[in-house]
Amino acid sequence: MKKKNKEIVLRTIISNAPISRADIAQHSGLNKATVSSLVNELIEEEFIYESGPGESSGGRRPVMLLFNKKAGYSIGLDIGVNYILGIVTDLEGNVVYEQHQSIHNLSFDEMIHLTIEMIKNLIEHTPQSRYGVIGIGIGVPGIVDKNGKVLLAPNLKWSHVDLPDILHREFDYPIIIENEANAGAYGEIRFGAGVNCNNVIYVSAGIGIGVGIILKGELYKGINGYSGESGHMTIVVDGEKCRCGNSGCWEAYASEHALLNQAKHILPGATLEELIEIAEENKNVKEIFNEIGSYLGIGISNLIKTFNPQQIIIGNRLAKAKHLIEQPTIKSINKHTLDFHQKDLQINFSKLSIYSAALGVSAFAIENFLSIGKD
Ligand SMILES: [Zn+2]
Repeated sequence: MKKKNKEIVLRTIISNAPISRADIAQHSGLNKATVSSLVNELIEEEFIYESGPGESSGGRRPVMLLFNKKAGYSIGLDIGVNYILGIVTDLEGNVVYEQHQSIHNLSFDEMIHLTIEMIKNLIEHTPQSRYGVIGIGIGVPGIVDKNGKVLLAPNLKWSHVDLPDILHREFDYPIIIENEANAGAYGEIRFGAGVNCNNVIYVSAGIGIGVGIILKGELYKGINGYSGESGHMTIVVDGEKCRCGNSGCWEAYASEHALLNQAKHILPGATLEELIEIAEENKNVKEIFNEIGSYLGIGISNLIKTFNPQQIIIGNRLAKAKHLIEQPTIKSINKHTLDFHQKDLQINFSKLSIYSAALGVSAFAIENFLSIGKD
């Protein structure tokens, strides 16, 4: 009970800082003596600190309390198909160090080796603090079970990878593995384009396509955590072969992989970044972006009709081509949805650009650390 109350006090401070002891009591419903003793403990443990006196309407000015965002640091990794991004953040999600590595056709062992080396480097660059590294969050483009096991990541060619077990052999920190689209959705509602929205569909468009679903402010993961595999919804019957084994999947038409696949007839080996640059002067390349945007809009239309969301956020690598795909995407959405569904709907690109998923998993690790009331 005491631990639960302590967490309530801490969370009240995090959401309302700067705040006085009296206001914490009022917000939380706990009595003043309890608040006072729990605040003293939290100060002792360096979770919070006292600032100068705050505003007061007459009488003695109360001492204000603030959350110590530098009490510890979180590590977030986004393992993509053609990159790994790692960040170190403080407890409010501010990035204090980052490392980005492009990768190409790595074997499973090489990928794991690189992941471990990157985590070691991030730990080395974590600032000194009371709690040091408080946890590691990792986003993976695939189906992740409740224990963090990666059941299937077709674009990485991973199946049944017990990532927490592999990493716990190297690192003695809490480790959270999450689907990257779920992580990206959480990152965007915590820190990005979705901050003021409660019903958000985040479309992570990279080499594959994943979807993170936020309903009533919370991440919806389905009964076993496998929701949002919309990249593999069929949009063309007997269409293009997909790497999941099915054919006609959305991501076979609207992902970075689909883009590169089509562009290879024009510019073999060109990367997304190179194609974005060339598109301005090459109308064939521009046309491919157009087509990718149209197909992106078709899948998004299906999601809009299913969820009637307040906001769609398009993120991950294809968001870099916003100026090329935004118009065809919106045109296609307008064409394939009804007016009812378009009402009050916002369509935005990710605000955190490539950081959505890394910030999301880092935030999951922070949430876990701050859950001091759990048994
Ligand atoms: Zn598929």
